Amino acid sequence: MSKLYFLVGSQDLYGAETLKQVAADNKKMAKFMDGKLKDIVRVELLPTVITSASCIEQIRKVNDDDDCVGVITWMHTFSPAKMWIKGLQMLQKPLLHLHTQANEKLPYDSIDMDFMNLNQAAHGDREYGFILSRLRIPHEVVVGYYEHKETIEAIARFARVAKAIAYSKSLRVAMFGNNMRDVAVTDGDRVESQIRYGWEVNYYAIGDLVKIIDKVTKKEIDAKMEEYESLYTMKTKNVEAVREQAKYEVGFEKFFEKKGIGAFTDTFQDLYGLKQLPGIAAQNLMAKGIGFGPEGDYKTSALSAVFMKMAEGVKGATGFIEDYTYDLTKGKELELAAHMLEVSPAFAATKPVIDVLPLSIGDREDPARLIFDSVQGDAVQVCMTDMGDRFRIICADVEIVKQPKKMPKLPVARIMWKLKPDFKTGAAGWLYAGGAHHAVISTALNREDVAMFCRLTGTELITIGDDSTMSSVAKLAEWR
Ligand code: MN
Repeated sequence: MSKLYFLVGSQDLYGAETLKQVAADNKKMAKFMDGKLKDIVRVELLPTVITSASCIEQIRKVNDDDDCVGVITWMHTFSPAKMWIKGLQMLQKPLLHLHTQANEKLPYDSIDMDFMNLNQAAHGDREYGFILSRLRIPHEVVVGYYEHKETIEAIARFARVAKAIAYSKSLRVAMFGNNMRDVAVTDGDRVESQIRYGWEVNYYAIGDLVKIIDKVTKKEIDAKMEEYESLYTMKTKNVEAVREQAKYEVGFEKFFEKKGIGAFTDTFQDLYGLKQLPGIAAQNLMAKGIGFGPEGDYKTSALSAVFMKMAEGVKGATGFIEDYTYDLTKGKELELAAHMLEVSPAFAATKPVIDVLPLSIGDREDPARLIFDSVQGDAVQVCMTDMGDRFRIICADVEIVKQPKKMPKLPVARIMWKLKPDFKTGAAGWLYAGGAHHAVISTALNREDVAMFCRLTGTELITIGDDSTMSSVAKLAEWR
């Protein structure tokens, strides 16, 4: 189980009685937060920091504990911040600065200087906030009485993002084949990705996978077909084509398990030894939390895996999507997003059907795929681009809507949405920002989740939504 450590600052200036009270308050607060957050993370108290040496000692615990995904810090009294410098310089995990108090209300009738000295977060947290800022340490600030619902919700958000970052740091991505020939936005600096996000992105020959796929047994394929039939409706009579995909998925699973892989890419330009482009095989894996990016798009693949981790336990769907085509009816503009095959069935509004139809691209046999209409609701569309000297994340608020008419001849799963604040501003903003045609879309996450991920990983963020105007998005063109 993941945990957050709760690390509180004080000093020995106020005497033993005060430190005893500080420790007792901390214990009570840690217990309260633990109780409220226990479905996401456990909260565990560390001894109070009162010297530089004790700060270093506790930060070492934070770093060395593999179950620890981050640290919540707070100054109960004044804690001179020079004694935090060396510890904070060592910190390797996400940090939350919780600006709170042990008490909610001021005891107006009884307040004296002892009370003031004991409860002075307004003072001590400013000293501490300065040193975080001075050291340029990426961190999150949450303000509010710790028992208030909104404060707990903000800490819960931090916990989910911190868990996703811990997952990111351990994520391995397999690229079967390379980036699609000549395509720019899907490419990127894999060395920098590993430095900043921890992603170990490695290339494998599709033949490495085919070797495993060729050894998949009839019994294993039967079991996978049973899984498909329990989840989806078989529409096709071409069962052999579906069995071919079942074989691929078993092969992927074996490959991923052996190498500890959590996300992958493929490309229709490099399918040597495969009869079909992976369709239902990729889709069913995505629904299980495996990241996916087509055409060698390792960034979208990894980001989708990390965001699925962030969305764990939150209602809604998260996965890869591609911008495709528009309905430009004036005032009712909609975007139709899909892909050749690979949309996650997590987005299915109704039970997906399995069908085998031509792909009309590449030179392979007709692939089996899942077809469905999508769920509706507020969502974020998030892409990551490589600007040459930094990564940029673009986050657009959208509203997924019901498709206005049936599309009986469209042989793929699809999602339709309204751009915000309106079609022209939303689309222009995405284009000025250099947004990709591949993205992660999520009805579980929102802009705040994405912004927190960006703050804690030091990633540039551009947001587009109801607070955007045509003049504000046009300014994006001036960013360098
Ligand atoms: Mn694509």
